[in-house]
Amino acid sequence: MDTRLTGISRRRLLQAMGLAAGAAWSPLGAWANPSRRKLGVALVGLGGYSSGLLAPALGLTRHCRLAGIVTGSPHKVDEWQRRYDIPDANVYDYDGLHRIADNPDIDVIYIVTPNHLHKPLALLGARAGKHVWCEKPMAMDAAEGEAMVAACRDNRVRLSIGYRMRHEPNTRRFMAMATERPFGAIRTLQAQAGFDGFRDGGNDAWRLDAARGGGAMYDMGVYALNGARGCTGLEPLSVSATRHTTRPELFRGVDETMKFRLEFPQGIVADCATSFGENMNRLRVDCERGWYEMSPFQAYDGNVGKASDGTVFKATLGRQPRMQAEQMDQDALAILNGTPLRAPGEEGVRDLRVLDAIFASARDGGATTAVRPG
Ligand code: NAD
Repeated sequence: MDTRLTGISRRRLLQAMGLAAGAAWSPLGAWANPSRRKLGVALVGLGGYSSGLLAPALGLTRHCRLAGIVTGSPHKVDEWQRRYDIPDANVYDYDGLHRIADNPDIDVIYIVTPNHLHKPLALLGARAGKHVWCEKPMAMDAAEGEAMVAACRDNRVRLSIGYRMRHEPNTRRFMAMATERPFGAIRTLQAQAGFDGFRDGGNDAWRLDAARGGGAMYDMGVYALNGARGCTGLEPLSVSATRHTTRPELFRGVDETMKFRLEFPQGIVADCATSFGENMNRLRVDCERGWYEMSPFQAYDGNVGKASDGTVFKATLGRQPRMQAEQMDQDALAILNGTPLRAPGEEGVRDLRVLDAIFASARDGGATTAVRPG
């Protein structure tokens, strides 16, 4: 494929080849990449996750490459350009990001900023004709997520959410068991994801700022929520949630700890928790005739599980950041081959609908709150 094509004309070509958003399932194998082309990815936001995990992971991928950076911190640019061989033409600040439409070297923008910026940046990327990968949580609420899905659909680009656990083999096995049900009907589920942080008073300002999408629920709670939805294969009908803090001076408008119950069809109940004040990393499914659990269940590597019949779940992709490399390769292949994404924007919206109900219930003192159906 001619890499000199403009972003727009490449988009038209992809459409003609049936490779853009909404394309039908391709008969190509999930691993094939007949074009052998690597997608150019621009990381948007060069903070901890981009620098520690995603940029190194891009160096391990087979179907994409780190082609550009978008940053509001000029002092970071030289080092990133040197380390990753990024040309001047592929360096953007946020104000100039719309110009990315004219850059044929960039196929995808990967949004790795504080959560309140996910929607505006996704809309900008979609309108520039770029595929959008976006970190979790997809957005601040379901209305924002729906706007992102619509913008990507209207501009015929793909939208994928950075749910890295959807690419982890033991998690994928647990999610397959949602339909296989090897121990009979699922009865209850527990999922807890959190860490003991901010003991230094909090130098991670946006994670403590409600306006920028701070709080444990957005940050870690989505692992518990997404895990519970994935392991039941069902959508919760209603929720109840309560929030607590032992450090009110630090957690003013945001949750330090959130406990939430998800009520699924078939009488399945999931009791979940997330916290910025307590280490927790466990997912357990109790069924009619047995159980299975994973702990840790959302680490960057080393996620292991066991079941009541003695089965051990210890498949591995290798050490970090292999999980992120796998995620980005799968997302790149889905774009190149026109195949379904493992975590499309619609999946992010389903989480956000539940999040909306969780926040509403917590505001309402834990009242049972219906989840808005899709
Ligand atoms: P971070 O604070 O380390 O980095 C955020 C970056 O955004 C910084 O470079 C900062 O300069 C930039 N930024 C731009 N506008 C900003 C603003 N208005 N306020 C603050 N910073 C601004 O955060 P992070 O840990 O890299 O997280 C970024 C995103 O990635 C979040 O959505 C987070 O949930 C997600 N994340 C996902 C994982 C995962 O495992 N999937 C892990 C960590 C973070």
